[in-house]
Amino acid sequence: MERAERIKKVPPYLFALIDKKKREAIAKGVDIISFGIGDPDQPTPSQIVDKMCEAVRQPKNHRYPDYEGSPEFRAAAAAWYKKRFDVTLDPASEIMTLIGSKEGIAHIFLAFVDPGDVTLIPDPAYPVYKLGTLFANGVAHYMPLKAENKFLPDFSAIPTDVAKRAKIMFLNYPNNPTAAVADLKFFAEAVDYCKQYDIILCHDNAYSEMAYDGYQPPSILQVPGAKDIAVEFASLSKPFNMTGWRIGFAAGCSEVIAGLGIVKTNVDSGQFTAVQDAGIEALTNIDPGFIPGMNKLYQTRRDVLIDGLNSLGWQMEKSKATFYVWAPVPAGYDSMSFTEAMLEKCGIIVVPGVGYGPSGEGFVRFALTLDESRIREAIGRMKQNLSL
Ligand SMILES: *Cc1c(COP(=O)(O)O)cnc(C)c1O
Repeated sequence: MERAERIKKVPPYLFALIDKKKREAIAKGVDIISFGIGDPDQPTPSQIVDKMCEAVRQPKNHRYPDYEGSPEFRAAAAAWYKKRFDVTLDPASEIMTLIGSKEGIAHIFLAFVDPGDVTLIPDPAYPVYKLGTLFANGVAHYMPLKAENKFLPDFSAIPTDVAKRAKIMFLNYPNNPTAAVADLKFFAEAVDYCKQYDIILCHDNAYSEMAYDGYQPPSILQVPGAKDIAVEFASLSKPFNMTGWRIGFAAGCSEVIAGLGIVKTNVDSGQFTAVQDAGIEALTNIDPGFIPGMNKLYQTRRDVLIDGLNSLGWQMEKSKATFYVWAPVPAGYDSMSFTEAMLEKCGIIVVPGVGYGPSGEGFVRFALTLDESRIREAIGRMKQNLSL
């Protein structure tokens, strides 16, 4: 059976080799410590779960949802933006509920990218930007994120003819996988650049609430005039431990939201209204101590991991946001061989940086979604078994 060209172009599953080795190790009885998956290990707060239980029982929620999202959820999302970022959004035209932000990120390319159109994609990055481009038969142009530029793209390095053919640019700060952050000055530069070349600016803000040492990540929509060309993807997954629930939203430029809406109304039929009701509870009524409490937990884990790595010879600064640590590999390794050594010699899973794009070479990603005691144990195993 012949698969479509766009599917044939999907890169081979990065984790296939690691998975095989992992299964072998488990079969041998190795106690694996996994820093692999960026998925919160703590449960969804019970106040959200209770709201969901109540909402599931309501017959009005059993019918098809409003495709673009319930008016109540969109109003709650707009109110959250106002409170959190002092950004004013019209719930009817500038907010759209998503079945997880990934759904909107993948679909936006179908709304705006014709075959051969260019998209400007960070490298390394969350893989969906590249795959979304591929599924729309577009051409991804990488914007390398380099340590010497604090993992921000250099817009002046994009050739003018590429910029002229570009339809969409994606940015993501706080960043997965590098844990880098961006300030409003950088976002303003991005808005200027995209306006100059008539490019839709998409900002993935999945980690806006996950930050440390008093840092508060901004919204790109805080840049004056950003709404003319920019949309931001917000997700309830990471801040509220709700990855399994599939709830997020797009916010910003009404023309872009409308285009995305045409794809969505013809592909899915919106998110279960009860899940949106639970989302309203999260955005509106969450215990004010919840997010700071989660961040304290991740910050402690970050400190244990980075202090531990630094005691083994790394020289890393502490990341200000996300639950990732983007660590350079030691001399003599590349990102794949270090990943293999960690698994074979220490029973530790990390993700090779090249899995996120060619500029991820030389790095591995640790996710802080495991207990502090396991992180300490991992550092101990590295000390004992790797000759660093
Ligand atoms: C986790 C993640 C998302 C997606 O989250 P959803 O669960 O689909 O809302 C989006 N972007 C990045 C960079 C992520 O790491």
